[in-house]
Amino acid sequence: MDSNHRNPQSASPIPQPIRSDGAGGVDRGPRDIMRDRQNPNLLVPPQTDAGLIPNLRYSFSDAHMQLNHGGWSREITVRELPIAKTLAGVNMSLTPGGVRELHWHQQAEWAYMLIGRARITAVDQYGRNFIADVGPGDLWYFPPGIPHSIQGLEEGCEFLLVFDDGSFSDLNTLSLSDWFAHTPPEVLSANFGVPQEAFRDIPSEQVYIYQDKIPGPIETQRVESPYGSVPLGFTHRLLAQPPLRTPGGSVRIVDSTNFPISRTIAAALVEIQPGAMRELHWHPNNDEWQYYLTGQARMTVFGGDGSARTFDYRAGDVGYVPFAQGHYVQNTGSETVWFLEMFKSDRFQDVSLNQWLALTPSELVGSNLHIGADVLDKLRKVKWPVVTYPGFEYDPSKQ
Ligand code: MN
Ligand code: MN
Repeated sequence: MDSNHRNPQSASPIPQPIRSDGAGGVDRGPRDIMRDRQNPNLLVPPQTDAGLIPNLRYSFSDAHMQLNHGGWSREITVRELPIAKTLAGVNMSLTPGGVRELHWHQQAEWAYMLIGRARITAVDQYGRNFIADVGPGDLWYFPPGIPHSIQGLEEGCEFLLVFDDGSFSDLNTLSLSDWFAHTPPEVLSANFGVPQEAFRDIPSEQVYIYQDKIPGPIETQRVESPYGSVPLGFTHRLLAQPPLRTPGGSVRIVDSTNFPISRTIAAALVEIQPGAMRELHWHPNNDEWQYYLTGQARMTVFGGDGSARTFDYRAGDVGYVPFAQGHYVQNTGSETVWFLEMFKSDRFQDVSLNQWLALTPSELVGSNLHIGADVLDKLRKVKWPVVTYPGFEYDPSKQ
């Protein structure tokens, strides 16, 4: 018997689609064991999974890479994850000095700096300008139609961009070089009041990302505008914001109440320690788009009518939850999970299952669920987004 055929209860490292009650059978066929290992809850789903739920996960590792001198980008849009209609995400890296060229788009752009530092610039419709250097844990938000740029500083950078339209593509924006390349030279001449020859070396197509030299200190690049700078800052230091801490983790919520310019995108940065869980909840305002920064987790999404499906997530994955559907996110590894919950909304909103039941007549809750005081007395009127059951450890073999 080769190692593929061993019983999963033995010390074999090869996972098999066999549940602890014996249901299932050995997978002898063509298979990708690495992916099966990464997806224990797809290979052996919890018994409670049932019905039809569409795919709610896509990994940036499965996304096409756009490689340029100066950096790279890859995106997860409705083309990769068809259910994700509200938001699209782009993972981008810029080398030291690498530039995401001057451009604009019809969608709002929300960003989280993952690694390194960048300089961002923008000018609004009133001629008010903006320039800032951002580092790990900093956000920016550019309203729709506002032109902007991003440039990697000394150590380069990697960041996540989120756009408020699932069909967005960062490869299809309105770019400075593209517009110049597709404008008659005599029009450029007439517009800027200089001879046509001044434009003889302009790029012949969209540049997108290019390598430049590392810019000097920010003071050397500030441009004085007669109209001043933008009144609502385009950046927010999310990690500098004090979190809401509960046993097992923490949450930082950022939306238009504390980052006023961010009118169409709301987010929560959630920390889930090993053994802990983002509690059972749902969102009464819109779909949820998730990005996993570290660790591994599982999420079951409950879609009503007896349907529920569990997906495994790890760093670099995008998850999705349709509007109002119930879910939890449980840390399934030995490392802390950090992930972003994102919404196309001006506010972050969630409904806690625990809080709902705690604030409902207990006779009603008890008779509805056939539960007694051992549960009812433990319900919590105060919302704890992350919870932990002391001593609990996730064990996939107990499925
Ligand atoms: Mn942009
Ligand atoms: Mn959620």
